[in-house]
Amino acid sequence: MSDCIFCKICDGTIPADIVYEDEHCLAFRDIQPKAPVHLLVIPRKHVASLDDLSDADRELAGHMLLTIPRIARQQGLEGGYRTVANTGKGGGQEVFHLHFHILGGGTPKPL
Ligand code: 5GP
Ligand code: ZN
Repeated sequence: MSDCIFCKICDGTIPADIVYEDEHCLAFRDIQPKAPVHLLVIPRKHVASLDDLSDADRELAGHMLLTIPRIARQQGLEGGYRTVANTGKGGGQEVFHLHFHILGGGTPKPL
């Protein structure tokens, strides 16, 4: 998607502090961190949100969920972390390219 900021991070047009990448997804630091460690994990493929995943994305979705704990460990979050996927305007989503927030390294506020 040419006007998608996270697609531009995927193709290197917009710089980001990338901490992990593989053939299906990448993780980079949020530009406005809400925790000492605040990462965004995104698929390379443009999918707008969780609502837009289809059965054809089963492998991609599973891969991302399995990769999140690996990235968290790699970032030293052995004590735990929060994973958030805001979905749709009513869910507070601002960037419409699927992403999982990983938040950790501090004292979490109860949801
Ligand atoms: P959402 O509200 O859609 O779940 O979260 C979008 C997140 O993307 C926000 O936490 C925001 O700070 C982050 N973000 C928006 N634009 C950029 C950017 O250009 N670079 C990085 N690294 N993060 C961004
Ligand atoms: Zn995109």
